[in-house]
Amino acid sequence: MTTLFHSAVYDRTLPVGSYWETTVDSGDDEDEPLNGDRTCEVAIIGGGITGLSTALHLARDHGIEAHILEAGVPGWGASGRNGGFCCFGAIGLSHDELLKRFGLAETHRYFQEQRDAVELVRELAASEGIEIDSQGDGEIQVAHYPSRWLQLEEEYEFLTEVAQYPCTLWSKKELAEYAFHSPEAHGALHIRLGFSLNPVKYSLGLAKAAKRRGVKIYAHTLVERWEKDGSWHRLHTPQGTLKARQVIVATNGYTEDKLHSAFSDRFLPALSSIITTRPLTQAELDAQGWCTETQIWDTRNLLFYYRLLKDGRFLFGSRGGINGSPTESVSQHRFMSRRLGEMFPAWRDVEITHFWQGLVCFSATFTPHIGKLADDPTVFYALAYHGNGIATGTWSGRVVARLLVGKEDASDLCAVVNQPLKRFPLAALRSWYLRFAYVAYNLIDAIP
Ligand SMILES: Cc1cc2nc3c(=O)[nH]c(=O)nc-3n(C[C@H](O)[C@H](O)[C@H](O)COP(=O)(O)OP(=O)(O)OC[C@H]3O[C@@H](n4cnc5c(N)ncnc54)[C@H](O)[C@@H]3O)c2cc1C
Repeated sequence: MTTLFHSAVYDRTLPVGSYWETTVDSGDDEDEPLNGDRTCEVAIIGGGITGLSTALHLARDHGIEAHILEAGVPGWGASGRNGGFCCFGAIGLSHDELLKRFGLAETHRYFQEQRDAVELVRELAASEGIEIDSQGDGEIQVAHYPSRWLQLEEEYEFLTEVAQYPCTLWSKKELAEYAFHSPEAHGALHIRLGFSLNPVKYSLGLAKAAKRRGVKIYAHTLVERWEKDGSWHRLHTPQGTLKARQVIVATNGYTEDKLHSAFSDRFLPALSSIITTRPLTQAELDAQGWCTETQIWDTRNLLFYYRLLKDGRFLFGSRGGINGSPTESVSQHRFMSRRLGEMFPAWRDVEITHFWQGLVCFSATFTPHIGKLADDPTVFYALAYHGNGIATGTWSGRVVARLLVGKEDASDLCAVVNQPLKRFPLAALRSWYLRFAYVAYNLIDAIP
């Protein structure tokens, strides 16, 4: 099996349909496809935040001008279409599981690096002059039932003691005073780390910064086949071949199983979907008591994430469907419009202007993966951010650049990100794992 979803999910000729696309004009800066045969030292497959950050750090900090091969355009994948929550996360394990598997010291280290990752995004945007439309102060996790207050208290304890992040618990009344009210909001945890941004502006800004330093980006260039010929890698694309000494895999949820045997059956992509409304009036915002620009998510396993955008639109995201077919997308759009109206009754009839979805990436170890292949140390990778890759993808790019030039050794990486790439058992059944997880989590989330 090479892809797990409907072909429409991978079709780079179809419009993404995101609101973000309407906020930029990239027409005059189109990257050409690879045409003919070329040679370079370092090739990067994937032009999302990970690939672009890697290329930028290689060029800026180490003088290496990599060539990026991107099947769509820079930022076409999850990077240009996400919710714009720049925050910590990137892991699919509970805090208890993290502590049990990696111990206190490595768990603490992971959370310090997550904090660094968020700061790196802020620094890069400032130093590279990228206008990212940043908003908000940290993030707010909302209890979707009164019973989930306990979960917030546990989260508070872990984040203050182990991660050492500044946090405050808000009662339902405080939440209504500082942020909003909803029949599905019963108190919250305010974590004062992170901010939100416009992901297309960030991705295209990274691409421009990389190109300014000599990075070559080939757009509309799908790597269809990968051969090793002595010490050279040959990456075959529809109109040409790129020969490189070292290759970095930055394809995340869009990694096809056929790309390279070391990556096949190791990842489980999942759809995440977003809708945005037309700009809300002040009266409409007042009707939900809305007075925050901070990003919000809830205590569900299949969580909803939402935030108010700079122009007054409301962005509302959730898990996506099972196969991403056009028919399923119509019902997903309907589901999200209905749920938005239930959670924010005053906005029940507000026009939805945009709906889109994209792939996030889980790994069999439920941890992000950064490193190089044990049996071919000329192949590097960074992927599987469990739906949270703006900060971690940016940070991974800097780490991979350092690994490649030998300034950092894979054995020195935090144990959480330095796990073997494990195959999913019965990998052909991965989409059934997803179905099963959705049913189970829906049931758990619905228990009051
Ligand atoms: C709807 C949605 C909402 C999200 N919300 C958030 C959020 O609010 N905050 C957050 O931190 N994270 C969020 N995420 C996750 C985040 O967007 C990703 O973790 C992050 O963008 C991954 O970046 P990347 O560069 O590793 O991968 P991607 O951005 O997915 O890029 C991979 C690229 O590789 C290319 N590619 C794949 N195969 C090939 C090939 N064979 N040849 C050439 N190119 C290839 C693809 O075309 C793609 O552009 C969200 C994701 C989605 C889909």
